[in-house]
Amino acid sequence: MWAEIDLDALAENVRLLKSRANGAAIMAVVKANAYGHGSVAVARAALAAGADRLGVICVDEGEQLRRAGITAPILVMAHTPTAEAQRLVDLSLTPTVVSCDMALALAHVAGERGIEVPVHLKVDTGLNRYGLSPSDAADFGRWLRDLDCIQVEGLFTHFASADEGDKSYTLEQHRLFLSVAEQLDWVPIRHVSNTATLLEMPNMSLDMVRPGLGIYGCYPSRQMKRSLPLRPVLSLKSRVVSLTLLAPGETVSYGRTWRASRPSLIGLLMCGYGDGLPLALSNRGSVLVRGRRVPIVGRVCMDMCMVDLTGIPDVAVDDEAVIIGRQGQEEISVDELAELCGTISYEILCGISARVPRLYLRQGRIVSKQTLVMELQDDVAAGVAGSVLAEGPSAGSA
Ligand SMILES: *Cc1c(COP(=O)(O)O)cnc(C)c1O
Repeated sequence: MWAEIDLDALAENVRLLKSRANGAAIMAVVKANAYGHGSVAVARAALAAGADRLGVICVDEGEQLRRAGITAPILVMAHTPTAEAQRLVDLSLTPTVVSCDMALALAHVAGERGIEVPVHLKVDTGLNRYGLSPSDAADFGRWLRDLDCIQVEGLFTHFASADEGDKSYTLEQHRLFLSVAEQLDWVPIRHVSNTATLLEMPNMSLDMVRPGLGIYGCYPSRQMKRSLPLRPVLSLKSRVVSLTLLAPGETVSYGRTWRASRPSLIGLLMCGYGDGLPLALSNRGSVLVRGRRVPIVGRVCMDMCMVDLTGIPDVAVDDEAVIIGRQGQEEISVDELAELCGTISYEILCGISARVPRLYLRQGRIVSKQTLVMELQDDVAAGVAGSVLAEGPSAGSA
């Protein structure tokens, strides 16, 4: 199995989203390996297409981009352990700060380096997940402003239900955010919009927007109008590696959940839940072979799955099987897969595992690829593992 990432589609999506943003800057959200698409290639393509900044969730994600030579501003959008302050500064990542501890740790490191660190403040206006309470935010912001070596560059919040038809809660959160922003009117970059907000409430774009899913060509929910011609960026493909003829009554895969009711031609694909093909597609999903939808039969295994190719004309070993994407007149979208599995497109995309090679295309031709290469560091002493262990069982209360 492999993934094809259409960088032209990605660039087009960035341009479309930018055109919707009322002149606001664009932060391309590339967390979680760019929603499974591969963060380095996506970050480069998004920046080339007009994105101004990048958004990630953890320091490692930022470091990966820096190591690839990316110099654009990178916001770490959520909680970072205080033990990571030095790495944040040394990698020139922009931290989100919601505590005095973290602010002081950053100021200390920045002081030692003789530099000023830009930071963003997160206000929790109703997701009730992470951030300063709106009643504390202004005081905290003013305290931060007076702290040496810290520059409060941004102020942001995140919406709980912007992808739903009823916008009243989003408007409420927005109102709360603006009441904080008014008190901190010297902060230059205010940002609130995820993909759903940018698409449906573009007048809320303020100084910057933070689209994630839209860049990858998907809509956050079924309820949303398809208001921009976003193009799907990712296709997932495999090949038929063998064909087996089964007699009526014979069964397929673990648990014998599928039984042939007629002489059946079963094709094997080297792709399973270990690659990110959801187990929930067992006896439910389909793939495209020779331009036709063919059913996944039996239980999806970790590394393989089987499809019923009975009656497909000229079907042969080595035929391409499309799991997500187009083949001929047919298409299987991420949305369709997510709906079938009772999940959201975000989870399907993020679930595509590191084992799946990513092939990057420009004008239909492969221009680069990323495969599974991971360095294992053995004998890591506690001190060296540092912040990883700071979050883990040896140092925490878990
Ligand atoms: C993930 C994330 C986004 C992007 O959300 P989409 O729905 O994918 O556009 C924006 N802001 C924050 C803080 C996020 O965590």
